[in-house]
Amino acid sequence: MSSPDLTAAERAAVMQVMESPVLSMGQHTAGFEADMCAYTGSRYAIAVNSGTAGLHLCVRAAGIGAGDVVLTTPFSFVASTNVLLFENAVPVFVDIDPLTGNIDPALLQQAAHDLKQGGAPAGRWLPRRGATGAGAAKAMLAVDVFGQPANYDAIQALAQEYELKLIEDSCEALGAQYNGVHAGRFGQSAVFAFYPNKQMTTGEGGIIVTDDADAAALMRALRNQGRAEGDTWLEHTHLGYNYRITEMSAALGRVQLQRLDEMVAARAQVAAWYSERLQDFELVETPQVVPATTRMSWFVYVVRLAPQIDRQRVIATLAEAGIPVRPYFAPIHLQKYMRDRFGYQPGDFPVTEDLGARSLALPFSSVMTADQVSLVCEELQKAVLA
Ligand SMILES: *Cc1c(COP(=O)(O)O)cnc(C)c1O
Repeated sequence: MSSPDLTAAERAAVMQVMESPVLSMGQHTAGFEADMCAYTGSRYAIAVNSGTAGLHLCVRAAGIGAGDVVLTTPFSFVASTNVLLFENAVPVFVDIDPLTGNIDPALLQQAAHDLKQGGAPAGRWLPRRGATGAGAAKAMLAVDVFGQPANYDAIQALAQEYELKLIEDSCEALGAQYNGVHAGRFGQSAVFAFYPNKQMTTGEGGIIVTDDADAAALMRALRNQGRAEGDTWLEHTHLGYNYRITEMSAALGRVQLQRLDEMVAARAQVAAWYSERLQDFELVETPQVVPATTRMSWFVYVVRLAPQIDRQRVIATLAEAGIPVRPYFAPIHLQKYMRDRFGYQPGDFPVTEDLGARSLALPFSSVMTADQVSLVCEELQKAVLA
């Protein structure tokens, strides 16, 4: 489905760490953080061992705790919701804009309004179970889906109007820009992730960016078993975690970050080939980039099959031709543990469910060739028409 884009420079950087005695908490972690600040314009960066870990620290730093209501999207990777559940907060889902797959600001506004008035019925905003006593929302967790930033003009206005904290899950959008501003610059904190299928990789890893000095200090401590600045190795000011990144990963990340713009450009070329080859094929809708996305950072290339097409059959036919394709995303509210805990039902978030049922991620990476893209498109058209 994807392929990391690694060169001799990445291999040399990792080897250099292996030849040193410092494998954790060294100069490469600090250097990677400084490089990320320079790239995004953020004041602070905290490197961690996964995107999920980074989001969890953002939730802790925002002071989100048991019973707190957080508005978020069901059309995402499960981690963006799970980090709220880690703290026993109540995720309140809001359906999405069918064009981008990002959270719908008009629905966000209604949800924030209704929750503030205390008139949010179960099955509308609140889940059917697991939200007793839930009051007004405390925060929003927005996701930049597939590498396209959410609608931050509207989301930031709502954050102001309803006094909501904003966490940005930018795990799929490093390198993207919204009206000329980097993804990751819109909330109190944001996270980028570096699993091997992301725009750049550290093997496993993630990084938090923020301009808030107190939050940065807290997240730095929580990453390192709760040791605050000045604590000794066996002194723990906070309940913390081991969310540290290795020096091997950080060194790899530094080289990848230098190559990021080049890799994002290569991904844009691959996406352009796909869109061009599929543009006249009516049974497949290609992904749309809205004008506010002044720079798309393609994470995946996800098409939508026409409603009458049997997606399982298309997936099986393509698998026989040696081409892997995947549904992406599966709605979070319909996962078993979410239904069991909150009583969600099919039909609760129709746009999310429609996109979830029709979406198909095609093979995608910065190292794909035009011929490979053509082959996938030919086989896709055959499979859809079969
Ligand atoms: C990749 C991703 C994450 C974080 O994933 P990790 O595997 O923990 O690094 C979080 N949210 C979204 C939307 C993602 O795509």
